[in-house]
This record gives sequence, C-alpha cells and structure tokens, in this order.
Amino acid sequence: MDILQSLPDTLKEIAVTPLDPKYNSVRSNCFRVGSPALVLMATNELQIKETVKFVSHLDEIENTKIPFSIRSGGHGMMMTSVNNDGIILDISHYNHIIVENSDKGIVRIQAGAIWGDVAQVLSPHQLAISSGDFGDTGVGGLSIFGGIGLMVRKYGLTIDNVIGVRLITGTGHILWADKEHHADIFWGIRGGGQIGLVTEFLFKAFKITTNKKKIQTPVVSQRVTYQINSILYFIKEWQDWVNKSSVKLTSNLMISKNSDKCYRINANNLWCEQESPKSTDTFNRAKLLGYIDKEKTQELSYAKLVEAPHIPHTGQDAMYIKNGMIHNLSEDIVLGLENLLEKSEVLAIEIRSIGGELNKKPNSYNAWSHRNVKWFIAVWGNRDDANKINKLFNPLLTKLDGVYGGYSSDISSEENKRIWSHETLIKLKELNLSIDPQQIFTCKR
Ligand SMILES: Cc1cc2nc3c(=O)[nH]c(=O)nc-3n(C[C@H](O)[C@H](O)[C@H](O)COP(=O)(O)OP(=O)(O)OC[C@H]3O[C@@H](n4cnc5c(N)ncnc54)[C@H](O)[C@@H]3O)c2cc1C
Repeated sequence: MDILQSLPDTLKEIAVTPLDPKYNSVRSNCFRVGSPALVLMATNELQIKETVKFVSHLDEIENTKIPFSIRSGGHGMMMTSVNNDGIILDISHYNHIIVENSDKGIVRIQAGAIWGDVAQVLSPHQLAISSGDFGDTGVGGLSIFGGIGLMVRKYGLTIDNVIGVRLITGTGHILWADKEHHADIFWGIRGGGQIGLVTEFLFKAFKITTNKKKIQTPVVSQRVTYQINSILYFIKEWQDWVNKSSVKLTSNLMISKNSDKCYRINANNLWCEQESPKSTDTFNRAKLLGYIDKEKTQELSYAKLVEAPHIPHTGQDAMYIKNGMIHNLSEDIVLGLENLLEKSEVLAIEIRSIGGELNKKPNSYNAWSHRNVKWFIAVWGNRDDANKINKLFNPLLTKLDGVYGGYSSDISSEENKRIWSHETLIKLKELNLSIDPQQIFTCKR
C-alpha cells in the first residue's frame, strides 16, 4: 500500500518521507532510531485530528493495524513514540504554554511542550509544576503516565495536578474531559496511558514565591557524590535521613559499581522552597551519610534547575529500563539490588524517595494504581541486554508493590498487570474500547 498516495492534501505539507533530506532528523526518539514510512510534523490541532482520522481510515480500508506512534518529547522509556514502516505523528511544535490565571495557578499547556520550557514560562509568575528531573522530557508522555518529579513528596505526581484535558478520540472526535465532563475519561487518561490523544492539558500549578535575593521560584539543590563500600549500610542511613526530613525534600540516587569493593553514588537532592535553617540542616545531615567525593549545594531558580538542553533525537540512549516501587525498602530488597550491581549487564541502579503527597490521594483519584509506595527503584542496562535485564530483575520485582509504566521499557502484557491493579486494568480496557474502537492508540514495538 502507498501511504503517501492516500494522504489528504491538508497533511501533505507536513509530511516527511524517507526520501526527504529532513527524514534523518525526525525518524528517532532519544532511545531508538525508527524507520517509519511517514512522519507528520503537526503544528496545529486540526492537523493532529486529521492525522488520527487518516490512520483510522487506512486501518479500515487495509483491514490491518498500521503502526502509529505519537511523539511529544521523545523521551518515553517504552520507546513507542517511533516505529518501523508506520506513521509517526510528531506534536513537538504544538507547544504553547499559557498562564491563564496567575493568582490561581491555572496553566494551559499544549501537549508537545517540554518541561524545561514550561518551567521558564511559569517562573516569572512564581509558579511551578512538579514534572521530571530532565527538561527535555515531554508534557505529553509524562502527564498521561505519571510524572515522578523532584517535588513529588510535597506536590504529588504530575498527573495529580492535571485538572482537565482536551482529547481526540480514536474516531477523530474532540472532547473536553475534567471531573464534571467525561469524568471516566478524565480518570483514565491520568495514569492510564494510551486511551486517547491529548492535545492540551489544564494544570493547577503551585506558588513558589520569589525570595529576597530576587531568585524566581527559589529551590535548594544539593548534588553529592559518595564513594561507599556497603550499599546496605548506606541505604539504611539514607532512608532514615529521608524519613526524618520534611516532605519538601526529595532525594534521587544513581548507584554504580566502581571497583571490586567500592560503589559510586550520585545523589540529586532537592528542597522545594527557598533556603532556610531547616534546608541547611537537612543538607548538612546528608554530608554525614558516607565518604564524599564531591558536594555542591546551591539556591537557584527551579526553572534554571530543569532548563532544557534541547538535545536532538538520534536514538542516542540505547538503554533498557525496568522499575518497581515499594512501601518498605527492606534489607532483603537492598541486598537483591547489591547483587544486581555485580552483574555486568546492570549499568546502574536508581533509587528515588517518593511517598508524601503521592500517598495522600485516594486510589480512585486517577488511574495510578499504587498510592502506598514510598521508594522507587529502577535498573538501567543496554537495550541489547533487555532479555537478560528482565531475567535478572524479575525475581526482585515479585517482592515489589507495583511498577511505574512511564519508566519501564518492558511493554509486555505481564508488565501491564504490575502497572495497574486488576480492577483498573479492566476499567481502562473498557474505556479504551469505547473511545478508540480500532485501537489505533495502542502501540506495539
Ligand atoms: C533522561 C530521562 C529522564 C527522565 N526523567 C523522568 C522523571 O524524572 N520522572 C518521570 O516520571 N519520568 C521520567 N522519565 C520518563 C519519561 O518522562 C516518560 O517516559 C514520559 O512518558 C516521556 O514523555 P515524552 O512525551 O517525552 O515521550 P514520547 O516518547 O514522546 O511519548 C511516549 C509515549 O507517550 C504517549 N504520548 C505522548 N504524547 C501523547 C499525547 N499527547 N497524547 C497521548 N499519548 C501521548 C505515546 O504513547 C508515546 O509513545 C525520563 C526519561 C528520560 C529519557
């Protein structure tokens, strides 16, 4: 079938094909080089809607499912935002960020924006939204799958702060969903992933007041590199430190093996308010957790902290990531992680403090299934070692309380059962079938 021949005129001007000199710059996301038959670089909502209708029409006449990917920031760890032989709808140019009501923190964001740019626009209004730790990640993917950000303990998940969405269904209809309109869709799209295409998110941002030093959205960042011998001992002390600190603190660790008896731990700690005696005391206590190689504490704007480097996508990070979350990071789990670091396939292990506000919302709040968890664990390896990483991590996974779908490269149906509770999965499937009967938004690699 010649996809191009069937393309409506409205979409021809935004089409990039393998013969186009631009093709190489639009075929990939950050994890993977795709070989799509067609990339559509949408700049407005009409083109997005027309693309959905076009894909739905092609599937119908061909009686097959043409691979279809939505690419926002291109940082999805599932790697489904590119494909081979199908169509990629790139929405990264549909990226306006509008502060609708500065006093109330009401912000409308088009789904192709990236979080670093969002923070720049919000900061002069003394507003922020807890997103991820990296400015290039997209609003589209993060705001439908979860969003474990640097302020998660104080402000919850990114999806917990979404108050409405403008969405295109699989049949090409546009609707608005919030707690009063299409409440079931509003519930499902926040955490449920691929049930529809969101073009705009409405957020309730929070206030971080400019301080006396005139730093807008001031926060305190501490980066520490430790060299340690015992992961078990370090994690016990670190957990204790987090547990005794305010929820204004979030701490993310990246652990790798240095040599036979030594581990390197990079800690990224954030206090989500201006500097105070309490933040200083908290960060001073972090300096006692292990032997320190490097340490830097600074007060800076949240917007500066997550500034986007705008790195072009070339499939540069050929990684594979598995994760799990747990309420209690027991000795048994930590020893399991230490064991994993012995394996050559495991490049690093990440542990993040979560909990706090995330634990306070009821389970029915949105389609995020795990409200009881306090620690997030991820294992990083090379994509070529995907099967080995799965085998190594799966025994540990059975002891964990659930998985964060937006941070997992595993798109098996078994993984779905770990991401969502049985009840949520059934509800999501029903919802998905009702608004996307042809399943055009359900991606396979
Ligand atoms: C370096 C790095 C750092 C990260 N840090 C964090 C972090 O701190 N916290 C965290 O929670 N996650 C983090 N992630 C994970 C990442 O944010 C998520 O995987 C997220 O889904 C990526 O969104 P994206 O729009 O950039 O991805 P894309 O690859 O563009 O999209 C991913 C998938 O989301 C869906 N999608 C995208 N846009 C839409 C839309 N508008 N409507 C419907 N579906 C859509 C599609 O199914 C698509 O395949 C990080 C990832 C990387 C690579």
